Amino acid sequence: MTKEELALEIIERLKREYPDAGCTLDYDDAWKLLVSVRLAAQCTDARVNVVVEDLYAKYPDVNALAEASPEEIEEIVRPCGLGKSKARDISACMRILRDEYGGKVPDDFNALLKLPGVGRKSANLIMGDVFGKPAIVTDTHCIRLVNRMGLVDGIKEPKKVEMALWKIIPPEEGSDFCHRLVYHGRDVCTARTKPYCDRCCVRDLCAKNGVE
Ligand code: SF4
Repeated sequence: MTKEELALEIIERLKREYPDAGCTLDYDDAWKLLVSVRLAAQCTDARVNVVVEDLYAKYPDVNALAEASPEEIEEIVRPCGLGKSKARDISACMRILRDEYGGKVPDDFNALLKLPGVGRKSANLIMGDVFGKPAIVTDTHCIRLVNRMGLVDGIKEPKKVEMALWKIIPPEEGSDFCHRLVYHGRDVCTARTKPYCDRCCVRDLCAKNGVE
């Protein structure tokens, strides 16, 4: 089986297993996802979803958040960790949206990458989830699982994993596939414990199945 064939089969299995898998960050506007992905670095999505409620209660739109000082933002986002740098990035980012993009999030990958605190993972997430464009989100679950499954071979660097996956994942499948990897990585192919290969929907395909 080629890696492309393996990828297609795993995509189909995960679709059946997690038919409704979507982004685990709550948002109802593109700029809010931009804020949440910055806060989610080294923090759980569940905690981010709680903290942003307070943030948006006080600063309900891009202009309001752009007007806030980094210190005021830090007061609220501190529970997510790395409060100072996250607040600084969010403040700078909202000011750029306000001043250069009319308060909108640009639907261009390279423009997203230029925003403070936005890396390839976040830019891909926004391209896929907000704009419905092809996207490969190489977070920690994705990198662990695609290595275990044998879709890539010993590649850990996020950008290299992303580039390797672009070659074997149909572009229109990438965003949903990566969301499903998050669900599978949390529930079955876990990081901290021995993965639960005995109840894994791709165990007969997986390179690692049962191997320590
Ligand atoms: S068989 Fe095991 S290692 Fe492979 S994807 Fe499933 S849980 Fe992960």
